[in-house]
Amino acid sequence: MRIGIIGAGQLGQMLGFAARELGVECRFLDPSISPPARVCGEVVQRPFDDAAALAELARSCDVITYEFENVPVDALQQIEDQIPIYPPIDALRHAQDRLYEKQLFGKLGIPLPDYRAVDTPEDLAAAAEALALPIVIKTRRLGYDGKGQFVVRTSRDVDAAWKALGSQPLIAEQWVSFDYEVSAIGVRNVDGEVRSYALSRNRHQDGILRTSRSPIDAPVLTDKADGYLSTLMGHLDYVGVLALELFVSGDHLLANEFAPRVHNSGHWTIEGAVTSQFENHLRAVMNLPLGSTKNLGFAGMINLIGTIPDSARRLTDAHLHDYGKTPRPGRKLGHITVVADSAHSRDARVEKIDKTVT
Ligand code: AMP
Repeated sequence: MRIGIIGAGQLGQMLGFAARELGVECRFLDPSISPPARVCGEVVQRPFDDAAALAELARSCDVITYEFENVPVDALQQIEDQIPIYPPIDALRHAQDRLYEKQLFGKLGIPLPDYRAVDTPEDLAAAAEALALPIVIKTRRLGYDGKGQFVVRTSRDVDAAWKALGSQPLIAEQWVSFDYEVSAIGVRNVDGEVRSYALSRNRHQDGILRTSRSPIDAPVLTDKADGYLSTLMGHLDYVGVLALELFVSGDHLLANEFAPRVHNSGHWTIEGAVTSQFENHLRAVMNLPLGSTKNLGFAGMINLIGTIPDSARRLTDAHLHDYGKTPRPGRKLGHITVVADSAHSRDARVEKIDKTVT
């Protein structure tokens, strides 16, 4: 069995490590020089939409998957008759465009913040009026880690938001004063078997995920999130891991976005769950029975952004993952996972490590 993986970043690398343990070979497609997944298999160094490289990947592999959601849909459509592609292209299409994504949540009865599509300055003014300030303006496509976003707090910001982002299709979204953010990570295999991990509580800083903790003591939220996950995955006839990011207010959840791939907020599953999200993604796309998603303790994950300080390398009661990337401000270079025997001890360790590695 050989799996073709589009994208050879850190998610590709962690998929590659899981594949090695399953005795499965991986072949990656990525134009970058020296990407993290180079240590797990051959990387075909061509653009993601290179027709010849994709055709060759399809010929030489048994199934194709991807590690990021901006894979060009047109390029995948060129090979979809030759090889199974999971997660399905339709999931990718919805996740690539915030408007389609929100329309899908609405259609499936998954609660979400009120929003408007914005294509003109008049649309933006009308959205500001209808949704009431503050609102968040987001590009429909290609936004990540808080990029391509503008918070409109007063009517004076409306023009500035249009100047900053107005050259592309946008959505305007109600500002949510959430208590905290969670992600629900689910997995579904080709036969339709579904499992989900315990919710992760996530903290972002400057739009980038900083820490995740799982499990959290929130049975009502867990039931709701599991319901949304299985509705979404069932509707899309989904195969693979899917991460649904949600805002929490009391016992209410509002969907923010979903990623049709393994997710940063699920990195804790490598040491903190019986089967990691990476192994389960591979099991799903190979149509093997899914592994248990049970926690092995109280897990916490701290992202290493911009630098991996020496203090991170000296920790002896935590797991360091160094992706082997060249340091750059704002770049995710690695992460640290702790697994504790109580939520209290996990939280204390996460907070301590987070302070020392900043
Ligand atoms: P996103 O790229 O949509 O995941 O947004 C990045 C982060 O910005 C989220 O994780 C939230 O912390 C924040 N954010 C996004 N949308 C909203 C919103 N409508 N209300 C409040 N905060 C938001």
